Amino acid sequence: MNIKTVGVIGAGTMGNGIAQVCAVAGLKVTMQDIGEAQVKNGIETISTSLDRMIKKEKISTDDKQATLANIDIATSLDALANVDIVIEAATENEALKLSLFEQLDEICKSDAILASNTSSISLTRIAGATERAGQVVGMHFMNPVPMMALVEVIRALQTTDETCRAVHELSEFIGKIPIEAKDSPGFVANRILIPMLNEAAYVYYEGLASAEGIDEIMKLGMSHPMGPLALADLIGLDTCLSVIKVLHEGFGDSKYRPCPTWQQMVDAGYLGRKSGRGFYVYD
Ligand code: NAD
Repeated sequence: MNIKTVGVIGAGTMGNGIAQVCAVAGLKVTMQDIGEAQVKNGIETISTSLDRMIKKEKISTDDKQATLANIDIATSLDALANVDIVIEAATENEALKLSLFEQLDEICKSDAILASNTSSISLTRIAGATERAGQVVGMHFMNPVPMMALVEVIRALQTTDETCRAVHELSEFIGKIPIEAKDSPGFVANRILIPMLNEAAYVYYEGLASAEGIDEIMKLGMSHPMGPLALADLIGLDTCLSVIKVLHEGFGDSKYRPCPTWQQMVDAGYLGRKSGRGFYVYD
């Protein structure tokens, strides 16, 4: 495989997971975020996750040290100048991603692939923000990254076969299963998942059952491993709101109208697990 070095933008829920799986596989990773506090938090989360793997006897303490030694941290995008691929996992916001890709296009070496972990935003528009549109692609990892097998590979209109082949190869190298989807709002995974979570939020909003009741109904009745509201808390309510808005605007179809509960909770700072409170309260 030609990819030896990976830049990850964002050290949050997804970014630290992506950095972890790449580093476990032996790749050299630079994990970048806007400040010291964010990157330090990201490293702490990786360290705790690796400790869990040691407890389960999946890795040794030496493996943990080797993994951590594979990860550099940075607060400037300039640190990504020489990486073979950037996987962007910053906040789900189109203006932010367009600006990041414009900057990456200037900073990164000319043959680097620029991938985004966006949940829903048009890869074709993101690719259009660069002068290397053929080398822009979606690598949509699932949460929690170390546990989940899928990488949904999103092909922008401009993405070349060579770029798709390279990210398929990378996904397999880090132990994931890549499955390709065309660029469209929410792609495949979130086109199906997020409307279900939005409907669960409406059921909660209308007071038809408690959060626990809604989640138990879906777990016991549909054999879902997690209830939809607990899953929304895991994903992050800000991310869920952004994705349902992309579906609503992208298709212009009222069936995707966002539940007012999402907006209210985000306004209150109740973002789910990452902020300690969402539909449930977390320690
Ligand atoms: P998060 O809120 O946990 O983390 C986002 C991180 O991005 C934060 O640490 C923030 O400081 C950082 N960031 C913001 N602006 C930045 C900038 N200019 N430069 C560098 N870093 C910046 O969010 P997340 O859940 O990790 O989501 C990240 C991306 O992954 C989003 O595009 C989201 O849609 C996607 N995603 C999320 C999930 C999920 O379940 N949470 C699943 C698949 C994909």
